[in-house]
Amino acid sequence: MSLNFEKTKPVRVGSIEIGGPAFVMIAGPCSIESLEQFSQTAEAVKKSGAVMLRGGMFKLRTNPQSFQGMGSDAFSIAREVKARTGMQFVSEITDPRQVGDFMDVVDMFQVGSRNMHNYSLLKELGQVQTPVLLKRGFSGLISEWLYSAEYIVKHGNPNVVLCERGIRTFETATRNTFDLNAIAYVKQHSHLPVIADPSHATGATSLVTPMSLAAAAAGADGLIIEVHPDPSVALSDGFQALTPDMFQSLMARLERILTALDRPLAQAAQKPTC
Ligand code: PEP
Ligand code: MN
Repeated sequence: MSLNFEKTKPVRVGSIEIGGPAFVMIAGPCSIESLEQFSQTAEAVKKSGAVMLRGGMFKLRTNPQSFQGMGSDAFSIAREVKARTGMQFVSEITDPRQVGDFMDVVDMFQVGSRNMHNYSLLKELGQVQTPVLLKRGFSGLISEWLYSAEYIVKHGNPNVVLCERGIRTFETATRNTFDLNAIAYVKQHSHLPVIADPSHATGATSLVTPMSLAAAAAGADGLIIEVHPDPSVALSDGFQALTPDMFQSLMARLERILTALDRPLAQAAQKPTC
């Protein structure tokens, strides 16, 4: 089987290449909650093969009463865990005025589903060279998603990675409907790499592993997965989080799919020994 790798132009996040032959695993909690929670999660996902960390600091919640994230109090936690693990870090930016503060903390900006149409934010992210993970709006057409990516590129930043995270349809059994078509479609119609987010696409812990395998088979260049040491006490999205053990089992099953697809798993760069 040959997937369309030649067409995708890889984007580098530090030593990690997204959109090349190797499949990139990004994992971590929905929200950073404490140094202990974030470092425990980071160490566990790294051990199982993740090369990048996720962790929300500013959360855009539908309900204003819900936990809104630690905000800038999470910056020092993120810096410390990055230093301890050597992992690249992606986190959601919610306002164009945050770009300067975020630049010192993240290796990749995440634009969330609710901000895919926030053109001021997209234009501001075009002014820097830090890579951007652009999530698809939950009511966004593929064409609108690609136009949003073009906003960032046109304003000067070519380092855009798309992220399919499920869309709103008439189906309510799952939180969203995972649009696997979109993954195969953008691989064929765009040069941008694409990451899949089965956590938000399904909204259910038990569905994350099967849909991760499906996304890899559909041609995704990597996955972003929510993992929490104890999902029952998570401050956001615990109902879709994997435990570190579940993440380890997902990785074991994923590696079998990747072998069949002839795709290696992206490895972290070896720290130089002196
Ligand atoms: C998230 O990644 O935690 C998140 C809020 O995602 P989305 O923007 O896709 O809803
Ligand atoms: Mn989440």
